[in-house]
Amino acid sequence: MKKDFINEDWSEVVVIVLERNATEKQIENVIKHLEDYGFSVHKSTGVEQIVLGAIGVQPNFDSRKISIIDGVLQVHRITEPFKLASRTFQKENSVLKIKNVELGGVAIPVIAGPCSVESEEQMMTIAEIVKNAGAKILRGGAFKPRTSPYSFQGLGEEGLKLLRKAGDEYELAVVTEVMESGQIEIVEKYSDIIQIGARNMQNFSLLRELGKTQKPIMLKRGMAATVEDWLMSAEYILASGNKHVFLCERGIRTFETYTRNTFDVSAIPVVHKRSHLPVAADPSHATGLRDKVVPMARAAVAAGADAIMVEVHHDPEKALSDGPQALLPKQFEDMMKQLKAIAEVIGRTM
Ligand code: PEP
Ligand code: MN
Repeated sequence: MKKDFINEDWSEVVVIVLERNATEKQIENVIKHLEDYGFSVHKSTGVEQIVLGAIGVQPNFDSRKISIIDGVLQVHRITEPFKLASRTFQKENSVLKIKNVELGGVAIPVIAGPCSVESEEQMMTIAEIVKNAGAKILRGGAFKPRTSPYSFQGLGEEGLKLLRKAGDEYELAVVTEVMESGQIEIVEKYSDIIQIGARNMQNFSLLRELGKTQKPIMLKRGMAATVEDWLMSAEYILASGNKHVFLCERGIRTFETYTRNTFDVSAIPVVHKRSHLPVAADPSHATGLRDKVVPMARAAVAAGADAIMVEVHHDPEKALSDGPQALLPKQFEDMMKQLKAIAEVIGRTM
């Protein structure tokens, strides 16, 4: 972040609990360190314990600097390290306008399509299915982050063209992933939303580059990322100049092996409390298994997700990636009806 970007209103609040037997000299030393970092310090003396309250403009403050000083028992940073992404910075929900789709408002758009763009026939077939069932955004990867270098890596620009063509034909906005900075220009040309995949959530140079565009960005949660890590990554894009960001919970790695990942449904209300950014949910990558996707999509809507993204394939046996988690057309249609009913109960629409 540029130094001159730091806002004077971003005061940091830190509470320092001192050890019971801290000496006067140690306490003075802690206060001096805090003041040297630019904090103004208030000392509260209790019956048995002394607590220091520190306030200052220090967005990159590292609490470890204080916790290692003699006499310090605990350091609690009260303010969040993300600023532009926080509810404190913006009280109202961010609502993104993507073509004629609103994301973050009352309606919950569904993003659907195959894992990978494979052929024109495949894209046209799936686009028609998902459009007829009520999807608003078409997905399809042209640059695929695959665990194995021997797996299908995506069709590249040819795939982008097919995605765009199918989106235009069926009046669907489109989303696709970029894996590296060099792909941004071309993906920007064909896509309405740029996806940052789980594996790139902390690719900070890529996030900075995306901050220079004005395209809506869907930032997926890294598989080992805390919500704070995730919001810090969103902060990179926002601080670099692009305010059109939404998040996507896609499951995290846990010790569980019966599903591909563990779907962290609670991340949805947690994000809503901490941040004004919309949060989507991707139950396909979160579970990895077709029969688990619809129940988790229902849970995500009930938990307040602002968009649902699912993989759909008309012939998943032959899919070049993620066939086992792709919904069949009939499952997708049924899911859409169920989600609509759940959305209504919580005052939202599909
Ligand atoms: C995807 O959505 O195509 C994808 C690769 O997801 P993730 O980055 O969440 O694994
Ligand atoms: Mn996939």
